[in-house]
Amino acid sequence: MFFFGFIIFLIGAVVGSFVDALVWRTKERLPIVFARSICTTCHAMISWFDNIPIFSFFILRGRCRSCQTPIAFRYPIVEAIVGVLFVVVGYAHRFSVTPEFIRDAFLATLLVVVFLYDFFYGEILDRFTTIPAIILFFASLVFGWATPQSMGLGIALGAGFFFAQFIVSKGRWIGGGDIRLGAFMGVVLGWPNILSALFFAYTVGALVSIVLLAVKKKKMTDETPFGTYLALGTFATMLYGDRMIAWYLGFLR
Ligand SMILES: [Zn+2]
Repeated sequence: MFFFGFIIFLIGAVVGSFVDALVWRTKERLPIVFARSICTTCHAMISWFDNIPIFSFFILRGRCRSCQTPIAFRYPIVEAIVGVLFVVVGYAHRFSVTPEFIRDAFLATLLVVVFLYDFFYGEILDRFTTIPAIILFFASLVFGWATPQSMGLGIALGAGFFFAQFIVSKGRWIGGGDIRLGAFMGVVLGWPNILSALFFAYTVGALVSIVLLAVKKKKMTDETPFGTYLALGTFATMLYGDRMIAWYLGFLR
């Protein structure tokens, strides 16, 4: 099992390096498929042996081989995080490669993309939410993962929750990206887990804001990239939603 976990970690790290490239290339409007890796400063081609996730960063001591510009620490960190997330997903599925494991590994990857894009660029792009939501909706019907009623109610609540805020604030608090991310969450989580994910996102968001305000890293007027908390909430609920609901209810008794 340790060996299997290690293999899954390595696969996750490779996916993580792709995720980083995907986020950056999407923002810079560069081609994504069949593009060779280049240094973002000197544009030198990066050979395969300098492009091994996590490992190469330390071999190169965090600098580009040709121009010596420091490589952002974010690259090995994202690679390691996706590696760990894959292991978490593997653990939740008892380390057996099932369609559900593949689905959750794919969703975890997607959520990291949403997280990073919102964190760095303050935007939630449709291509990372709406299109996967449509694919997942039909895959869920085919594999019997969720009923159309559960997903329908999830979409209504997820999208409706943000749409209501959009209307109330006349578009000041919420953008269209949040509404579509809400619909995506509805498909992924269904009823009643969508509620759990929203609650989780707001709780973590509030706690992080309090900490950041306390250490004066943040002003009251700063905008929070809320998509990052929604991505976290979706990931946690996707794997442990049932237990989370039991846990919340434990407080009410
Ligand atoms: Zn360079």
